[in-house]
Amino acid sequence: MDERFARQVILPEVGEEGQRRLANSHVLVVGCGALGSHTAEALARAGVGRLTLVDRDVLEVHNLHRVGLMAPQDLGQSKAVLCANALRHIAPQIRLHAEVVDFGPEQASAWVPEVDLVADGLDNLETRYLLNDACVKYGVPWNYTAVLATHGMSMPILPGKGPCLRCLFPEPPPTGSLPTCATAGILGPVPMALAALQAAAALRILVQPEMAMEATLIQCDLWGRSIDQVPVERAQGCPTCGRRDFVFLDGRPQDTGS
Ligand SMILES: [Zn+2]
Repeated sequence: MDERFARQVILPEVGEEGQRRLANSHVLVVGCGALGSHTAEALARAGVGRLTLVDRDVLEVHNLHRVGLMAPQDLGQSKAVLCANALRHIAPQIRLHAEVVDFGPEQASAWVPEVDLVADGLDNLETRYLLNDACVKYGVPWNYTAVLATHGMSMPILPGKGPCLRCLFPEPPPTGSLPTCATAGILGPVPMALAALQAAAALRILVQPEMAMEATLIQCDLWGRSIDQVPVERAQGCPTCGRRDFVFLDGRPQDTGS
């Protein structure tokens, strides 16, 4: 066993078998801003064997107060490529793929079935409904994680075992109706903290995929120093995980009117 993981392998929760499972795992990180970059770094350092990093955007100066793996000399370059390049130095043993593209239905259908888990580095709710459709359709676990201002929330989604995003929020809000980090701001440590929560949940799912995980939404306010756990139930008649109507992925009308 690689000595770099010695302090992680002695954890009874991980062990040598768990470390081997991490090494054989492939995680898709959708979005490589603050949330995605910190999550990718945690997973790479923990020994996840393969990462696919997706982001269409380039690094801008107002990203620098919160992102991981990127520095001022990187401005104007692809966030996905910058993260992959930094991780090649940090964790040379892993396989890395950087994809500079808008994550749409085509990418979701092609990539989600190929991975063991998806991490949420997105900055908009609309794409999370697409991700939720793809993960439920193909039975791939993912972590819904979102940050804004001084607070954030995170919930692991285990298709077939617990609630999905649409059990929690049945319909997406109208486009542009919610505040964003551009309008409401974002405290730098918030995405770091939520990335740590989502990375820890990801490691647990990858190490112990058969182990049950409580269906809870964790909500925290780092400025207010509060953390709450909200139980979430699978919704009766959920269009995604109940009726398996994948409108965001397949583009079909939600109700055929038959
Ligand atoms: Zn559902």
